[in-house]
Amino acid sequence: MTESKHARVPQNSADVVIVGAGPAGLVLGNLLLRGGIECVVLERAEREHLHNRARAGFLAAHTVRVLARNGLDEGLRRRGQEHGVCEFRTEDGRFRLDYGRRGRGEPHTVYPQHELVRDLLGQFIDAGGRVRFGAEATAVTGADGPNPSVAVRDRDGGTGHWRARYVAACDGRHGAGRRSLPAGAVRRHHRDHGVSWLGLLAEAPPSMDAVGYAVHPRGFAGHMARSTGITRYYLQCERGHDSGAWSEERIWEELALRMGAAEYGALRRGRILQRAVVDLESDVLEPLRYGSLFLVGDAAALISPAAAKGANLAVLEAEILARALTDALVHGDPEALDRYSDRCLDHIWRAQEFSHWMIDLLHGAPGAEGAAAPFQERLRSSRIASLRDSRTTQDWFADHYVGI
Ligand SMILES: Cc1cc2nc3c(=O)[nH]c(=O)nc-3n(C[C@H](O)[C@H](O)[C@H](O)COP(=O)(O)OP(=O)(O)OC[C@H]3O[C@@H](n4cnc5c(N)ncnc54)[C@H](O)[C@@H]3O)c2cc1C
Repeated sequence: MTESKHARVPQNSADVVIVGAGPAGLVLGNLLLRGGIECVVLERAEREHLHNRARAGFLAAHTVRVLARNGLDEGLRRRGQEHGVCEFRTEDGRFRLDYGRRGRGEPHTVYPQHELVRDLLGQFIDAGGRVRFGAEATAVTGADGPNPSVAVRDRDGGTGHWRARYVAACDGRHGAGRRSLPAGAVRRHHRDHGVSWLGLLAEAPPSMDAVGYAVHPRGFAGHMARSTGITRYYLQCERGHDSGAWSEERIWEELALRMGAAEYGALRRGRILQRAVVDLESDVLEPLRYGSLFLVGDAAALISPAAAKGANLAVLEAEILARALTDALVHGDPEALDRYSDRCLDHIWRAQEFSHWMIDLLHGAPGAEGAAAPFQERLRSSRIASLRDSRTTQDWFADHYVGI
């Protein structure tokens, strides 16, 4: 399970043990390495799997700046595509919002997350970074003291420990970092939006030159380009929907109906490569630190995909933690670590607020019953009209949609 390096480090110890090789763990690892801090990344999956795990694709301007100023943007510069237009479709017609020219005038960069992960892994390993693939962290112990330790099970069932000064849990919502927090150590804020999406990845070119948001009586449908030959689609579905229940034909018909293909142009169809049901939930831990254990990315907070913020928050938090760890370990200022949680939570709650706004915009009022339902529906129509007609609302939308 070993993949390199750093002969002078005693085996199974590092200043910082990073659990998880997603965007959070790999940005953190690369920045620590550049700052001369010994670290190791423990990753449950195999490298090949990470190279092909399609997820996010819309990178915020801030994410691009973080990657650029740390020399981690080569692939992104070569293959990323600028993107700055949304098209909203409703029963009243459609309109386009050129968000890349509104507000601060910043577009997104479309670059598939698995390609970013591939780049970051390559750069980390080339720079001498240590990664253990097929190594699942099972628990973090001793985080309330100065010598935390991460218990690991490898792909053959062998077990071991990694000693550290600090542990960064970048292992997502169901990872060992969250599971190892003692009861009452942090507060959990949770909200289930009561809405589910069938997320689809199609081997098909984009059907329009915009992010498409269709608000339809049968439910929301979304369209997001990933590359010239791959497009992500979303279909609102019943909670508990079986992702395999609909045939490809049925999926394309439902997408065409909700997206108004008869009026606005046919969808470019292709094989469905991936399908999964996503329950829209928000989940924030507070604070994002327990002693020497830090929570980063999806391990810190889960955000619904409605506003495309998850991967961007992960990168932002990784940069904030890298700076704080550098101050603590290189510049002798451990108090910098005390500021990590509050700094991240400011951004996380702002993103949560915008994501809630988007959920209401795209779904009306999930769960509203009786007289509240049509009332909420009218509020949603009014919100969409404001987005169509008000320059001020468009500027606000642009800043929050691309900002982080
Ligand atoms: C379908 C979909 C579409 C999305 N679209 C967008 C989008 O357009 N824009 C956006 O910003 N976000 C989007 N997101 C969210 C985004 O993908 C996540 O927020 C992002 O991956 C979080 O990064 P992370 O590094 O925190 O976690 P992850 O990417 O989940 O990485 C965690 C890593 O930890 C590993 N791991 C887990 N447990 C252990 C363990 N016990 N031991 C060792 N390793 C472990 C995992 O294998 C994984 O590699 C989307 C998500 C999905 C599912």
